[in-house]
Amino acid sequence: MSTSGPIAHTFKPTGVGRARLGRIDTAHGVVETPEFMPVGTQASVKSLTPGDLHDARAQMILGNTYHLNLRPTAERIARLGGLHRFMAWDGPILTDSGGFQVFSLADLRRVDDDGVTFTSHLDGSTHRLTPERAMEVQALLGSDIAMAFDQLVDPAQPRAEVADAMDRTHRWAERSLAARGRPDQAVFGIIQGGVDPELRRASVAAISELPFDGIAVGGLSVGESKSEMSATLEVVADALGDDPRPRYLMGVGSPADFFAAVEHGIDLFDCVLPTRVARTGQVWTDAGRLNLRNSRFQDDPEPIDPSCACDACRNHSRAYLAHLFRARELLAYRLATLHNVTWTLALLRRLRASLADGTFAELREGIEANYRRTDVSIGGAHDAAPPLHDD
Ligand SMILES: [Zn+2]
Repeated sequence: MSTSGPIAHTFKPTGVGRARLGRIDTAHGVVETPEFMPVGTQASVKSLTPGDLHDARAQMILGNTYHLNLRPTAERIARLGGLHRFMAWDGPILTDSGGFQVFSLADLRRVDDDGVTFTSHLDGSTHRLTPERAMEVQALLGSDIAMAFDQLVDPAQPRAEVADAMDRTHRWAERSLAARGRPDQAVFGIIQGGVDPELRRASVAAISELPFDGIAVGGLSVGESKSEMSATLEVVADALGDDPRPRYLMGVGSPADFFAAVEHGIDLFDCVLPTRVARTGQVWTDAGRLNLRNSRFQDDPEPIDPSCACDACRNHSRAYLAHLFRARELLAYRLATLHNVTWTLALLRRLRASLADGTFAELREGIEANYRRTDVSIGGAHDAAPPLHDD
């Protein structure tokens, strides 16, 4: 086990590419990896209680700094005892730095070398985030893992712009570390560089030489193709070599995406997809995705997935869910979300087990075959959906 500040971690190779099995020890509990983190953008994984998340066996969840800082504000959450107490989740929490949302959600941004000035998407009020303020906000929230403040850039922009944002991200990484607010909070750096191999290698070099507690891969799941994502992950994995720190792929988490990323050495994922698509009636099963709004489910007495242990699958039929969605009953959103989160976390447990017992390829083939055909991992260019980093 290697200890780097507020978290301890150990990762062991599995013989499957660069895939590793590991554990991260935080002040609020252990995270076995590879693992997926449900997204609780506004101090809530939409429609689920902390008890639901424990039942789904969530180990760590994510909170969004941008949203929480605008409302109810980090200072208010701190006065109320910090984010764990505020939302009554006693497990580990990772917060992002707000960088992604500033660049994807806010209006009228102005970027300078010191930080970003933007107007709130809620009420048009003016705000400013700098590396120092992003770290202060995350210290007030009291998450177990904080993220360095970074500048997102569309990888389709001219190379000079991607390089410029990357260089700024590196300067901001140093300032984020210098501004770390509390000794019990880990800080992860973020690798940028678009889908350009040379820039990605430069970013790995710049970020990995800093004393971060973990390394995140940012700037993906923003409109690039699956092959670009995979190629970028390979470049990053090669450049990181045997760096012992946790590796987190930001904003990625569709069933078909986990396996390739794990094979490239990724330990942590987050994505709004399981919760967001659930609210449209789309549920994930071993046999692929089902759309509960489809009329064929109105007479289907089977559970969503007979192998799933969630409340929706133990007690309710597809027909009932199909009815709830048609009637726009609130329970529809809750049960579908509970199922998708439970199923996704179970998939990650099976993935970990498969790495241990040599059946990874088999599990991968089964899942990918059912999700490859129509699955789109990405927002932006592929399906015009909003980005997958906040819900
Ligand atoms: Zn279920």
